[in-house]
Amino acid sequence: MFEHITASEIAGYGVGTLLLCVTISAPKIDALISASQRSSLGMCKRCGDLRMIACSRCNGLGLVKEGGPFTIIPINERDQSFRGGSKPRSISCTKCQSKGRFNCPECYKLTSY
Ligand SMILES: [Zn+2]
Ligand SMILES: [Zn+2]
Repeated sequence: MFEHITASEIAGYGVGTLLLCVTISAPKIDALISASQRSSLGMCKRCGDLRMIACSRCNGLGLVKEGGPFTIIPINERDQSFRGGSKPRSISCTKCQSKGRFNCPECYKLTSY
């Protein structure tokens, strides 16, 4: 019975006009829709009408690990933390004030104008 569903889905992709229906019924497909398709559907190019964009620094977590892979840690400090068994601490992201996301600038422009 799943074969039937798959077949009809493939048909939908092929026709392309069913894209809108697929979008509504399957939110996961949204990620596959390109920016140009979003705008033709009247959706925000930037955020896809979520009105939010994830923070690029903390990937939407609102927290960043203190001392990333690019931070040079002095050898004695590294040694201390190894012996102490301390885990890398997470600090709140300064870029997004630990919110993890920003208002979409595109949508914000439209709503606040
Ligand atoms: Zn952030
Ligand atoms: Zn937007």
